[in-house]
Amino acid sequence: MEKKLVTILVPAYNEQEVLPMLYERLVNLIDGLPNYDFEVLFVNDGSKDNTLNIIMELRQKDQRICYLNLSRNYGKETAMIAGLDYAKGDAVIIIDADLQDPPELIPEMIKYWEEGYDDIYAKRRSRKGETFLKKFTSKMYYKILQSFTRIDIGKDAGDFRLLDRRCVEALKLMRESQRYTKGLYSWIGYNKKEILFDRDPRAAGKTKWNYGKLVNLSIDGITSFTTAPLRWATFFGLAVSFIGFVYMIYTIVKTIVKGIDVPGYASTIVIILFLGGIQLVFLGVLGEYLGRAFYETKSRPLYFIDRYNEERETNIKK
Ligand code: UDP
Ligand code: MG
Repeated sequence: MEKKLVTILVPAYNEQEVLPMLYERLVNLIDGLPNYDFEVLFVNDGSKDNTLNIIMELRQKDQRICYLNLSRNYGKETAMIAGLDYAKGDAVIIIDADLQDPPELIPEMIKYWEEGYDDIYAKRRSRKGETFLKKFTSKMYYKILQSFTRIDIGKDAGDFRLLDRRCVEALKLMRESQRYTKGLYSWIGYNKKEILFDRDPRAAGKTKWNYGKLVNLSIDGITSFTTAPLRWATFFGLAVSFIGFVYMIYTIVKTIVKGIDVPGYASTIVIILFLGGIQLVFLGVLGEYLGRAFYETKSRPLYFIDRYNEERETNIKK
């Protein structure tokens, strides 16, 4: 009987310090699973250090290593879809390069896959090596995001997961340019299985995220998933208009009954500032959605490939 092929997909951006360690741990693990064939597909996301060279060296000694070199740095979300496009496996396991996702969980994922689950994701029980502020903001964010949408967005579940081929095909159909993959996993549905793990601190190197990027990802998360903020704007606008209307009637009646009184600077300025502020905020919200629509209507390819293994690519395949 032919063995099933499992692709291990590793997006990597400036990861030269951890790659040798990662390779060692992956190979140990793969060798312990002789019933499967493995392909380790690195997606080099325009690294500025030695990452690509290290991967190429690894491939020379081990043909199970494959790599995709993107034409520049596109970000992890895009690196992942590029990897999914080129992955050959019957299942794809996405794992961070920095060993924060322990590869030792892979056998368990494969076990559940064989039991018929399509999307086995690892959920963090703890987050070692992350600051209180990062944990707190992340918790609040998921609360807010979840309150917006019916689709269950896995809190504390990252991209570390095993995807059956049919999930991969589903994700490949979603060619939106501002990707929020975490939400897409939920969106496609299929049989999900959660396994718990303790997230380790990064093995070496530095995190590629900063608060600015995280805030942007958060806004993408909300705007790509729900138009609830637009509805909020409508409701809020209605409420403010109603209050404004009541105040207008009050002012008219007061003027008729009591005559014109000139003072009123404070109330006028307060109202102008308040309404002005609200209008700007909601213009911003509208703009967010308009901006997304703008990017999507261009329907540009999501990425360009420099090379896939030894082949020089001139254009994307898909
Ligand atoms: N990554 C990437 N492109 C980027 C930034 C990050 O492919 O522009 C990869 C990175 O190499 C790593 C994974 O995405 O494998 C997660 O990145 P990181 O560990 O910096 O994020 P964190 O774990 O802090 O959320
Ligand atoms: Mg990390």
